[in-house]
Amino acid sequence: MNSDSRTNVFDAMIVGGGSAGLSAALVLGRSCKRVLVCDTRKPRNQVAHASHSFFSRDGTSPEALLQIGREQLQPYDVEIQMDEVVDAENLGDRFQITLSNGRQFVGRKLLLATGMKDTLPSIEGFAELWGNSVFHCPYCHGWEVRDQPLAIYGKGEVGFELTFMLTGWSRDLVLCSDGAAQLSDEQRQQLLNWGVQIREEKIARLEHQDGKLTGIVFANNEMLPRHGILLRPRSHQHSNLAAKLGCNISSDGFVEVNESKQTSIAGVYAVGDTSSPFSQIAWAAASGSLAANFINRSLIEENLFSLTQQTI
Ligand SMILES: Cc1cc2nc3c(=O)[nH]c(=O)nc-3n(C[C@H](O)[C@H](O)[C@H](O)COP(=O)(O)OP(=O)(O)OC[C@H]3O[C@@H](n4cnc5c(N)ncnc54)[C@H](O)[C@@H]3O)c2cc1C
Repeated sequence: MNSDSRTNVFDAMIVGGGSAGLSAALVLGRSCKRVLVCDTRKPRNQVAHASHSFFSRDGTSPEALLQIGREQLQPYDVEIQMDEVVDAENLGDRFQITLSNGRQFVGRKLLLATGMKDTLPSIEGFAELWGNSVFHCPYCHGWEVRDQPLAIYGKGEVGFELTFMLTGWSRDLVLCSDGAAQLSDEQRQQLLNWGVQIREEKIARLEHQDGKLTGIVFANNEMLPRHGILLRPRSHQHSNLAAKLGCNISSDGFVEVNESKQTSIAGVYAVGDTSSPFSQIAWAAASGSLAANFINRSLIEENLFSLTQQTI
């Protein structure tokens, strides 16, 4: 007996059909498991024209990438519901989820792959350029602006670390802290040594043309010509299901998981950006695949145990 064929119970229910969730669904589907994926189709990178640094799919649009992922699930026993999961309940040895249309489903394992949401600085231009000239990750978008005049938006340790990283893509860098830079004397000296300017003036807005950044305008109206800005936006959980289920959440907002991607609640797993600060498609897909291996192993163990119990 592979899947739970006795009842209408899914072996695994996956909330979130981004890179992490679809990767887990593929592995579980190919493991002869009955899987449900629920997704609202709002991946974190949906504003980007192209997604980069993912092996064999460099430059593919985020939507096209996930479309391929969904299509490749077709041979397997994987059902996809394009709807929001608004509630999840722990029934002991089962989980029950409720969709926004009121439909309910029951499964033996629950995998949260719901991702994170970003909050950008409320400065004119940031939202418009997000995912293109304004980016969160040099591995994803650094190549497109390599060797160009770039800025880092940030302060303190985060601003310093982002600046350090971006020197790998351009040596024409300005750290814009939009207020006091909160750097130590040593950090200031290091930035100076690397040829990085520090601008602590408040930023009024970003200038752009045809969807591309042309400059940063400070409160005194002075414009600093730049072609790209790297920042680490504030982020929070896309969904409150982990909190509802009582999963431990770290002080920096990620769902806590062990080495098998299981949360503090037995049978509930969390993968991708939901449980990791390493926000890249490859990492998300890898964690989904890893969790699926552990979920499958656990289901096999449970199946064999119940078979043994029946024959005793
Ligand atoms: C602007 C931008 C550009 C980026 N570019 C790149 C890039 O070029 N290369 C790269 O490797 N990484 C890139 N990233 C990072 C990448 O987007 C993430 O690492 C990746 O999307 C994480 O995948 P995930 O499956 O964990 O979450 P997501 O992709 O965010 O998917 C989560 C899914 O869960 C769904 N969901 C959430 N809550 C519910 C619910 N309650 N019910 C049903 N569905 C729900 C969402 O709609 C979404 O479809 C970028 C990020 C940003 C912000």
